[in-house]
Amino acid sequence: MGDHFQTIVDRDAGADEAAGLARSVIDWLVAEGIVLAERTDCVLSQPLGHPPGPNWSHAVAEEDARWEPSDGLAVHLGRTVFHGGQGCFEAAICPRCSTTTRLADDDWKVIDEAWTPFSEAIGTWYDTGVAHVPCPACSREVPLPDWNWSDDYFAFAHLGLDFWNWPEVTPEFRTRVCALLDGHRTAYVRGKL
Ligand SMILES: [Zn+2]
Repeated sequence: MGDHFQTIVDRDAGADEAAGLARSVIDWLVAEGIVLAERTDCVLSQPLGHPPGPNWSHAVAEEDARWEPSDGLAVHLGRTVFHGGQGCFEAAICPRCSTTTRLADDDWKVIDEAWTPFSEAIGTWYDTGVAHVPCPACSREVPLPDWNWSDDYFAFAHLGLDFWNWPEVTPEFRTRVCALLDGHRTAYVRGKL
């Protein structure tokens, strides 16, 4: 089976505003009964998370509502590399020229010469909070967090809302959460441990 997660990531929240934005989203989720306010040992990525509330099913499609979540919601604050776990990244898309750079071939084998600049930048960003990768197509130096990823495989950010072992939340639910994030760009990172 494995453990599944889905994370709504705020790509634009600065380190100093992430906690306040997280608070407003959690307040709304608690008011709607989707999660409970009091945190317990119910998530895999952090010591404590918010367990599902009485109306958790409002976040998922009707046909998925018989599959009760076995775990809760973890809130990630601070510089975090969000990624799709066991899956594989396929491509990065330049936000300046929209060119797609393939990072894995059709057999999901990593293309080393394309991937290495990203791999190095991820380490640098994690350590320092600043890293750029030049676009192979337009040559512009693009900040790592600005790159887009196929299937939202990666997100480099300071705020993520991480649902563990929930049925897939609906696009409508994600839109309502994202509306509380000051119009920031968001990513929806999913995967499995
Ligand atoms: Zn480009």
